[in-house]
Amino acid sequence: MPFTFFHAYLPEVARRETRSVHVFTSGPGDPPPGEYGLLEMYCDEPGCDCRRVFFNVVSSRTRSAVAVVAYGWEPAEFYAKWAREDDPAVVRQIKGPILNLGSPQSEHADDVLRFIEDVVLRDPAYVSRLKAHYDLFKRQVEERARSKRGAGARRRRTHRRTRRPVPPAEWPDRRAPKLTSPVIARRPAHSPGSRRSAGARRRRSTA
Ligand SMILES: [Zn+2]
Repeated sequence: MPFTFFHAYLPEVARRETRSVHVFTSGPGDPPPGEYGLLEMYCDEPGCDCRRVFFNVVSSRTRSAVAVVAYGWEPAEFYAKWAREDDPAVVRQIKGPILNLGSPQSEHADDVLRFIEDVVLRDPAYVSRLKAHYDLFKRQVEERARSKRGAGARRRRTHRRTRRPVPPAEWPDRRAPKLTSPVIARRPAHSPGSRRSAGARRRRSTA
């Protein structure tokens, strides 16, 4: 499940529609005041429908990621079925919102997570936007995979063509009369495509 930045696939949409949140004052348990960009990442595996987003939360002050939060917008049953997993704790890990285990997190990660859970994801319009972004992203992934497969097939076809034995210049041509004339020695190097005319020349030369 390789996750890739949304803006890598759809830079225009990302420029317009990436959310950033401002924390003006912060009390205990809040992230430090500042602006945080919620850079979305989605899974770019063709054929995979995991319906999750990773938020790479970047502080504009430090220009670095303060947390990576995983979130799935579908009900828990969806992820249980998708992962073939009965353990609610594991399903909860997948669905989130949760600090992603495999990602580096900062000292403010827990506060950022709480903020995302309590403020950002309470906005249904934003959650709808995430779903729309996921759909756009997945369409791009499938399109790229299709065109890659197409290019592969084209390569294979070309390969087959070039692997067909190409008669070398000395290839015995049964239709051509036996050549004994010194004209052969003067025959210019030519591509296989001009063999017919070469043969015709040869035939003429021995006639
Ligand atoms: Zn996936």
